[in-house]
Amino acid sequence: MTNSHLPQQLALLSVSGLLPCPFCGMAKLARVTRTPPEGEPEPICIQCETCGATGPTATTHDHLSALWDVRASTERPA
Ligand SMILES: [Zn+2]
Repeated sequence: MTNSHLPQQLALLSVSGLLPCPFCGMAKLARVTRTPPEGEPEPICIQCETCGATGPTATTHDHLSALWDVRASTERPA
C-alpha cells in the first residue's frame, strides 16, 4: 500500500510568535506546507489549528508569517 495516488502531501508544522487568530483569538497556529511527489516543499499558508481559518498565501515562510500578522492586526475585533 502506498500513497502514490495522492498528487501531493500536505504537512502542518506548529508555529509560535505570531499574532493570535483574528477569528477565534487563539494562538495555536501552524504553517501548511505542500510537498509535491517530486520537488521541494512549498509553503502554502498559515492555518489556525483551533478554527481552521487560513491566512494569505505566500511563497516563503517569512512572508507567510508577515502576512498573517498584518491580517491578524487589521481583522481582529476591536
Ligand atoms: Zn482561529
